[in-house]
Amino acid sequence: MSRYVDSVCRVCRREGMKLYLKGDRCYTDKCAIDRRNYPPGQHRVTRKKQSDYSLQLREKQKVKYLYGLAEGQFSLFFERAERMKGATGTNFISLLERRLDNVVFRLGFASSRGEARQLVKHGFFCVNEKKVNIPSFLVKQGEVISLRRKSDRVTHSFESSGKRERPPWLEVDSKSMKGIVKALPTREDVTLPIEEKLIVEFYSR
Ligand code: SF4
Repeated sequence: MSRYVDSVCRVCRREGMKLYLKGDRCYTDKCAIDRRNYPPGQHRVTRKKQSDYSLQLREKQKVKYLYGLAEGQFSLFFERAERMKGATGTNFISLLERRLDNVVFRLGFASSRGEARQLVKHGFFCVNEKKVNIPSFLVKQGEVISLRRKSDRVTHSFESSGKRERPPWLEVDSKSMKGIVKALPTREDVTLPIEEKLIVEFYSR
């Protein structure tokens, strides 16, 4: 399945929560969730009681959209998490967090994960001083993420990212515009409203 290209605010409205897919707009009163917090569609539909399958599917879809992954890539990440030692759900969230596009967003160098993915693809970032243009690249402890060239877009995103919480496993040096991976993310570090248990149940069916 290809990547979702329709209005991203519809995704938030379908999931009934802010997924912060649109950058700065998500933090303003123009956010569609603040204005129209009901499922999208021509006829206004109210949220009904969901079956177990529906809950699992919606959780999987929510996390997929949150990190901006296509279906195939999402399930490949899940398979990788299953092969790792420890709890699959925790491994899965940790793997998603370690993606370079997510790290660029978390450091405040982009206003959304979508923008971060585009910047990474266009070669704006280095990891340990080597150009990396693969959004799914997984960062490791001790690695340093830096800008390859100055960009007004990145500077603007960085300046307006002050309202976002920076995760404790990342450190940012705002003078040199560098990010350091202090540690690998633990489940407690990821404060997003994710119920990974439901995703594990979805893939175990
Ligand atoms: Fe979601 Fe952001 Fe649109 Fe609000 S503005 S509905 S958080 S994508």
